Amino acid sequence: MMMKKCPVCNGPGVKERRVGKYCLSKCRVCSFVYANVTDEEIEQVNFNFGEFVKCHYREVQSGIDALWFDRISRAC
Ligand SMILES: [Zn+2]
Repeated sequence: MMMKKCPVCNGPGVKERRVGKYCLSKCRVCSFVYANVTDEEIEQVNFNFGEFVKCHYREVQSGIDALWFDRISRAC
């Protein structure tokens, strides 16, 4: 599978870890961690999600973002 480039800075990604059936990549340049999936896969998943799931995802993602920013701010 192709390593997806960083959605933030377009830098090269390295394998970070696996979550379920998805691989997370970490940007070598800015350390941003993102899912190594194609835009088609993201579209497919989004297409199948209902409004409830979208809301739930937004809440979960906000929590993850908060944790991530917390970790980054501590590392600096
Ligand atoms: Zn990056």
